[in-house]
Amino acid sequence: MKEGIHPEYYEATVTCACGNTFKTNSTKQELKVDVCSNCHPFWTGNLRKETTGGKADRFKKKYGLK
Ligand SMILES: [Zn+2]
Repeated sequence: MKEGIHPEYYEATVTCACGNTFKTNSTKQELKVDVCSNCHPFWTGNLRKETTGGKADRFKKKYGLK
């Protein structure tokens, strides 16, 4: 492989609009994002929890579990 054709990767500090910061690998050293795992409902699992919870509840009722 030739040198210079692959971008250098840094441990980038990502700053979210919500104020959360986390590290990731990027070609840039600093990144800004609008949503992150801390504030995005999908990534935080809020939606998944509700979906899973509903199914789990039905499952438990069906089989008489508590
Ligand atoms: Zn965020």
